[in-house]
Amino acid sequence: MATLRIDLYSDTQTRPTEAMREAMARAPVGDEQRFEDPSVKALVTRIAELLGKEDAVFLPSGTMCNQIAAVVHCEAGDEIIADRTAHILNSEAGGQAVLARATARMLDGVRGVYSAEQLEAVIRPPSRYAPRSRMVTVEQTANLGGGTVWPLETMQSVAEVAKRHGLILHMDGARLLNAVVASGVAARTYCEPFDSVWLDFSKGLGCPVGAILAGPKPFIEAAWRWKQRIGGAMRQSGVLAAAALHALDHHVDRLAEDHANAKLLAERLAQVPGLAVEPETVDTNIVLIDVSGTGRTAHEVHAALMERGVRIGALDDVRLRALTHLDVSRAEVAEAADIFAGLIGAAAAE
Ligand SMILES: *Cc1c(COP(=O)(O)O)cnc(C)c1O
Repeated sequence: MATLRIDLYSDTQTRPTEAMREAMARAPVGDEQRFEDPSVKALVTRIAELLGKEDAVFLPSGTMCNQIAAVVHCEAGDEIIADRTAHILNSEAGGQAVLARATARMLDGVRGVYSAEQLEAVIRPPSRYAPRSRMVTVEQTANLGGGTVWPLETMQSVAEVAKRHGLILHMDGARLLNAVVASGVAARTYCEPFDSVWLDFSKGLGCPVGAILAGPKPFIEAAWRWKQRIGGAMRQSGVLAAAALHALDHHVDRLAEDHANAKLLAERLAQVPGLAVEPETVDTNIVLIDVSGTGRTAHEVHAALMERGVRIGALDDVRLRALTHLDVSRAEVAEAADIFAGLIGAAAAE
């Protein structure tokens, strides 16, 4: 097995930088559960301000943010409405059925983005036969959609429909700051109509652990109870909050580099016969690559790339997904594209 040199598997693969490790080592800490950790307190205040919400709670993961939001917002038997590709419905081990005990309604959006009309069409009138439509989820950016940025107008029209029907609006903002950097729209503008919103520090922001969930005070109080209940309450988590604070200072603007590198990768791969890639749809740091034209499965292509020291994950039989991040340089992205092109070219020549 070749050593892994260029890891485009996910933006979760980043290691904390030396500067981040120093910030963590120096962090003032206390007992987070007793609201005595100064670093966590600073982070929570800063994020509530950034997202335009009353309060926020620090959690170990984005999954826990989604699941706690669902269980606070929904009663058993309620329905969560989300795009077919949504992380909350596909990649959290069915958590919404276990904790919130909610059912799911999936919408067929375009690259993870659905319309106000699509939402309105599935909202159920009150009926004792039907599940109650309850929580509408928007994923900004849409991960399996290919890192798509929800346009502000689309988000606002979806929010208008949800509000008109008295539904709860939840944003999975794992990569919200990628959308902010790509679009120039302020985070609080995106978040304004939402009842709850969170962002992840362990994705493009480069932290080892951590996510933060924001909303009105009563919602955050209820979220804290669930954090305690399911073991998400920590102690001297200021070491983790310090990493997040460092990332907010140093790793936000640079997301633009990841976006440019993803565009470069998409443009190079789009030239390769047999690969279907749409550079014009690459809004942020995610590139979807359809390999069905090569006569090989995505799993075979993944394995062949691994032998050449490049990791790009297979999403299904036909598609690979590459993510750019802090730990891959532009030169490495270009090299990965060359290796990929060489691999497909060599197979075609055989
Ligand atoms: C990664 C991710 C999550 C889950 O976050 P974790 O911190 O890995 O638990 C949720 N939603 C989206 C869109 C993600 O990309």
